[in-house]
Amino acid sequence: MADSKIKTIGVLTSGGDAPGMNAAIRAVVRKSIANGMTVKGIQRGYSGLLNEEIIEMDKRSVSDIIQRGGTILGTARCEEMRTEEGQKKAADICRRHGIDGLVVIGGDGSYRGALALSHLGINAVGLPGTIDLDIACTDYTIGFDTAINTAMQAIDKVRDTSSSHERCSIIEVMGRNAGYIALWCGIANGAEDILLPEKYDYDEQKIVDNIINNRKHGKRHHIIINAEGIGHSTSMARRIEAATGIETRATILGYMQRGGSPTCKDRFYGSLMGAYAADILAAGKNNRVVAFKNGEVTDFDIEEALAMQKSIPEYQYEVSRILSR
Ligand code: ATP
Repeated sequence: MADSKIKTIGVLTSGGDAPGMNAAIRAVVRKSIANGMTVKGIQRGYSGLLNEEIIEMDKRSVSDIIQRGGTILGTARCEEMRTEEGQKKAADICRRHGIDGLVVIGGDGSYRGALALSHLGINAVGLPGTIDLDIACTDYTIGFDTAINTAMQAIDKVRDTSSSHERCSIIEVMGRNAGYIALWCGIANGAEDILLPEKYDYDEQKIVDNIINNRKHGKRHHIIINAEGIGHSTSMARRIEAATGIETRATILGYMQRGGSPTCKDRFYGSLMGAYAADILAAGKNNRVVAFKNGEVTDFDIEEALAMQKSIPEYQYEVSRILSR
């Protein structure tokens, strides 16, 4: 690997932060160094790249980070990177700093930036770092496991008090466009109803009937997991309370789902995928997205990956409904 064309690899995190990004950064840095390359860290995503916030990284610079949530490099959204001018400037900056390979840890949006850079001659590889699990080419995204476990534990706690007080609880979890966190927690927490952005045409009257019916049959609580993309949990709680006569509270979990020490799974996949990204760049591959598919780490062409579609598995949704009755 040491005689590969690429001499210097840059690494950045972009879009929303996700637990396990640090494990991925650590793996990119240490595997690239093991492959005989120099590594530079780019702070604050594409925004930091355009501001030349670029630091040298050695093996010790990633010590003691594998257990930490967030991203030591920082992350940002950057409008300028969406423009042709911004992309050309970013590619020039990479060249000026000797960065001939770039690992971008983030979601679909971040891959579009990587794709633009690879068209401009910078070898770029994307890594799936998002709590939302909404990247079509991969069965796993770094951060998802920590987020669902954090949400699940919080929902368990709300459920305890909800049962004691015989309340109905609406718990809003993250997922603006994708309902995977809501679906997984819905099954794992035994929620009575799950509202997903993919199934926006839910029927509130059905939920009301369901609550009344469950109460008649002795259920002491009613948990509704509502995805952020549906939102309006507080007003929904008011309407449900008025229609059922049952005290109904809304809890919005918010950013707590993004933070915290990553689970073993996020550290494991972050490490594996980070190392794999370093290796495929060393092997001369360009314009790829690393993915975990059918039990193996693999990679896809970025454009191909962006064109793939992913939808909520109907069977999982069906199971969640049947098990909660
Ligand atoms: P998350 O899943 O957390 O939302 P993401 O990577 O999809 O992650 P975005 O906000 O969509 O998050 O994108 C992150 C950054 O990637 C943007 O702020 C922008 O700098 C860059 N980006 C997004 N779309 C494009 C594009 N079409 N062309 C170039 N760069 C883009």
